Amino acid sequence: MTTPSPTAAGPLFAAVDVGGTKIAGALVDSAGTLTHRVQLPTPAREPGAEVLAAVHRVLERLAAAPRWGEVTAVGIGSAGPVDLARGTVSPVNIPGWREFPLGAEVAAHPAVGTRRVTLAGDGVAMAAAEHWRGAARGADNALCLVVSTGVGAGLVLDGAVRPGPSGNAGHLGHITVDLDGEPCPCGSRGCLEGLASGTAIARRALAGGWRPAGADRSARAVAEDARAGHPVALAAFDRAAQALAAGIAATAALVDLRRVVIGGGVATAGPVLFEPLARQLERYAALSYVRGLEVRRAELGTDAGLIGAAALCR
Ligand SMILES: [Zn+2]
Repeated sequence: MTTPSPTAAGPLFAAVDVGGTKIAGALVDSAGTLTHRVQLPTPAREPGAEVLAAVHRVLERLAAAPRWGEVTAVGIGSAGPVDLARGTVSPVNIPGWREFPLGAEVAAHPAVGTRRVTLAGDGVAMAAAEHWRGAARGADNALCLVVSTGVGAGLVLDGAVRPGPSGNAGHLGHITVDLDGEPCPCGSRGCLEGLASGTAIARRALAGGWRPAGADRSARAVAEDARAGHPVALAAFDRAAQALAAGIAATAALVDLRRVVIGGGVATAGPVLFEPLARQLERYAALSYVRGLEVRRAELGTDAGLIGAAALCR
């Protein structure tokens, strides 16, 4: 995916992807190829100014690339929630940034100059990336999910990524799939994320009596034991798949989807997740127009944030 394309011509974009653990940057050409990659750890527990300084360092390293002069726009993907109407971000895992004007702060950096700056939430950026170059390519109506420590998502409708006015449209992690379920940090209860995230899978397995063989108590270790047939580990994935199926089926009923793309660390569990998901979708996606949804694994992995940030500049 990083092989330079001889046919790539046209505009060059700078992309920055701000997450809770790393800030990545790259130049992205019109074929979606990444060059001049930069990555720094996110000082997530530091004051907001320190986090911004790390973003600036990433920009400065990109600006040192020989082709910087060809860059026409800067795309930023950020952990959410975001508020595109105001150009601010409030990433849950970066407490120093609350309603932080990330778009304006990047635009004000001297290296950026007069270039247009586009801001997006990470779920929407992932959807834009998979629609441009990944598993949602060619799909006019798709839901793209990232299932990892949380559950994020973005929507492609009628051929275009739809961020909505605030930039959070399609945020499937916080729709209620369990009416009287556990309170969620978002303020609601029974949210999909509380049942289907990697964190939720590990918690459920541990509560059911599963004990990891090694030090890893994450969903990755649960997946490994599920593959070996451990009944509690299998049940934890089945419950996550049930919640995902309910959320996906509801979304499909609402906006008439054809394809669902699932990425993130939990998706790397493979059949341990996707087999029960197919079974559960049979139960919940029942109306004629939501039956037979095409479910695919995401293709772009951790590059999706950068590719998506560039895709949204196009
Ligand atoms: Zn919630």
